[in-house]
Amino acid sequence: MKTLHKRVLITGGAGFLGSRLCERLLDADCEVLCVDNFFTATKDNISHLFGNPHFELMRHDVTFPLYLEVDEIYNLACPASPVHYQFDPVQTTKTSVHGAINMLGLAKRTKAKIFQASTSEVYGDPEYHPQPESYWGRVNPIGPRACYDEGKRCAETLFFDYHRQHGLRIKVARIFNTYGPGMHPNDGRVVSNFIVQALKGEPITLYGDGMQTRSFCYVDDMIEGFVRLMATEDVVTGPINLGNPTEFTMRELAEKILQLTGSRAKLEQRPLPQDDPKQRQPDITLAREHLDWQPKIPLDQGLRLTIDYFEKLLGRGLL
Ligand code: NAD
Ligand code: UDP
Ligand code: UDP
Repeated sequence: MKTLHKRVLITGGAGFLGSRLCERLLDADCEVLCVDNFFTATKDNISHLFGNPHFELMRHDVTFPLYLEVDEIYNLACPASPVHYQFDPVQTTKTSVHGAINMLGLAKRTKAKIFQASTSEVYGDPEYHPQPESYWGRVNPIGPRACYDEGKRCAETLFFDYHRQHGLRIKVARIFNTYGPGMHPNDGRVVSNFIVQALKGEPITLYGDGMQTRSFCYVDDMIEGFVRLMATEDVVTGPINLGNPTEFTMRELAEKILQLTGSRAKLEQRPLPQDDPKQRQPDITLAREHLDWQPKIPLDQGLRLTIDYFEKLLGRGLL
């Protein structure tokens, strides 16, 4: 028998990032309890873990209380793409806010260390570029993205109040756009949309003039950042930006994907969604200093791995 270390709860553990984190922590000999209500996920991303005696899956909605004994909590439960979080906006806010309260209550009772998957969306459509953690953001509180942005902002408030008021050990990561194998093909995010469209030879849907920018981080780099942040001394609470500072326009991304897939699909302009941020790039100075972390996988390599993944889905008739 191996000596097992920590009992780790991962909420949203069946999702894109959560499933990768489950794998990573099982490899590190943790006991992993994956909690998910399957709002956006299916069991596909975690079914290969079912035979592992150190892995446990629980269907549960984090807006309801949860009583169990754990050493660490990664709170990832929340729909993450605009298509998913705008489907039921009230439930999105509930998941962020009530979910945070319940997980913080659990952390308080068990004295567990707790990680929050916050987001670059807390910066809204930013006036400062790149965005440092000290920037308070520019979020429309009543727009169609607010259920997500304000829900995540309120969750950060709760994390810092539980830290100040109850001495909880918190780790708040502000995650910038992340991509890689395991992404949902239908959640409308730009990387999955463009790759699926290119592979199927369908028009590449470029919103607006395509000059808006994003910075994309490969999933394995991101998960490494999570684990390093969780392992820091208690004085490190975050918020800390995690993302890849290399910035691209959406037009450049489309052209790169066309080139890598060898597709002849045409670009097709569509209206820019309301409140769509014009630019986004993380300032990762703090992550470099506190975590000795920076992304390693360049966009070309990450896109190739992601294209391989979607090609396999296409081959199995799943796209
Ligand atoms: P995802 O949709 O793949 O995963 C989210 C998971 O949470 C899903 O498995 C979903 O079923 C589950 N979930 C949703 N509501 C729930 C509820 N009420 N109770 C229990 N489970 C629930 O998204 P992801 O990309 O893996 O994102 C994970 C976390 O990281 C999210 O909190 C997201 O806001 C954050 N994040 C992701 C990105 C990104 O680019 N992927 C960027 C910034 C922040
Ligand atoms: N909670 C939970 N699991 C626990 C402890 C608490 O889900 O192990 C939930 C419970 O629903 C509670 C919330 O977390 O309402 C906040 O807990 P806290 O102790 O901060 O507040 P209180 O119990 O006083 O409301
Ligand atoms: N986008 C696009 N075509 C698509 C999907 C998205 O041009 O098919 C754009 C979108 O308007 C935004 C960027 O790509 O400017 C990133 O969108 P995504 O939904 O992936 O992430 P977020 O807006 O949350 O950063």
